[in-house]
Amino acid sequence: MDLQGQNGLMSTYREGWRNRNPAGIAAAVSIVAFYVVLYFEDKVTRYTGFAPLTGLAEAVGLRNRWYLYGFLYCLVMMAGAVYYLGRHGNSRYNRYRVGANVGVQVTLGFLLPFVMPLFGGTEFYASYFWPLKYDYFFPQTLQDLPVYMAVYTVAGSLVAAPILAYFYGKRWYCSWVCGCGGLANTFGDPWRHLTSTTARSWRFERASIYTVLAFAVTMTVLVAVDFFIGDAHPSFHAFVSGERWDDWSVKTFYGFFVGSILAGVVGTGLYPLFGPRLWCRNFCPMAALLGLIQKAGRFRIRVKKDMCISCGNCTTYCEMGIDVRSYAQTNESFTRASCVGCGMCAHVCPRGVLRLENDKTTKTTLPVVTS
Ligand code: SF4
Ligand code: SF4
Repeated sequence: MDLQGQNGLMSTYREGWRNRNPAGIAAAVSIVAFYVVLYFEDKVTRYTGFAPLTGLAEAVGLRNRWYLYGFLYCLVMMAGAVYYLGRHGNSRYNRYRVGANVGVQVTLGFLLPFVMPLFGGTEFYASYFWPLKYDYFFPQTLQDLPVYMAVYTVAGSLVAAPILAYFYGKRWYCSWVCGCGGLANTFGDPWRHLTSTTARSWRFERASIYTVLAFAVTMTVLVAVDFFIGDAHPSFHAFVSGERWDDWSVKTFYGFFVGSILAGVVGTGLYPLFGPRLWCRNFCPMAALLGLIQKAGRFRIRVKKDMCISCGNCTTYCEMGIDVRSYAQTNESFTRASCVGCGMCAHVCPRGVLRLENDKTTKTTLPVVTS
């Protein structure tokens, strides 16, 4: 709470490290450097002769650097949750949401995948679904998984996730379950106001996120087709598998460009410069898919008529760069595909103008804008 007695509002503008000053730039450079070493440690080893993260993982008794990353991820999320709840924990919605996020990450995102191989099981990340976890739909992956896991990942991706998004919006995943969203809402909270609200950023968002979704779908289909007919069509197999491109297959290119560069180096490393939802807003194929369902579903942000005083807190604090104030000023309840239902706009509104709803009657009783 700051000196004005407001939970985190005024202090946003006082603290330099949260406003792209040298400390913020240094933070971004440090996080980017960490991700570069994480994803490209073999190249670092080639030049330096040692593997820093693998060495550290082995020193603390973890199997490899990816478990170390998972462990650090949980620690950072928990520290960020303490920070976040210190500022916004006076809301029950925030407490439950962040509690669920951290709980899911620690249990399903780290402990379960770590413990299962110890008992002869498969390393499996139950909190991630296709297309975010794109390799879970590769025929070879499904074939190698135990049947109950294969059913879980297919039913979770194609049935449960879309149905929940229809009834509750994409917030059930993006703001309650997903590890990427969880990190953004905890560790990334200090920089949420840096998300751009310009029309240009919105146009970029729409072009980029659906491009990545199309890429993910195309890549999955190509890999599946190659699995079934690749032997009979050598030139197609050579194209998909990468034999023709110096081992740069469609899936290794996707993994490198989307999985490593966009999700890790750019999406997380640049939190301190461009806000915490850079990946979710612009590149995540899961967010794109759930957003399309959300637009057709029941989730709404309801605007109470003639209550807005145009203070702009809602727009400033929207981590997805949505100009919430413009809807409030014109008394328009709205559904935006990019809204992750974090609830922050409603939480920081001094007039109680905004309310997150899953009510089908809203659509018929209030003017609703979709875009
Ligand atoms: S519109 Fe509100 S609920 Fe949606 S992402 Fe922005 S702040 Fe969160
Ligand atoms: S909706 Fe609330 S927070 Fe947003 S501009 Fe209006 S009064 Fe301010």
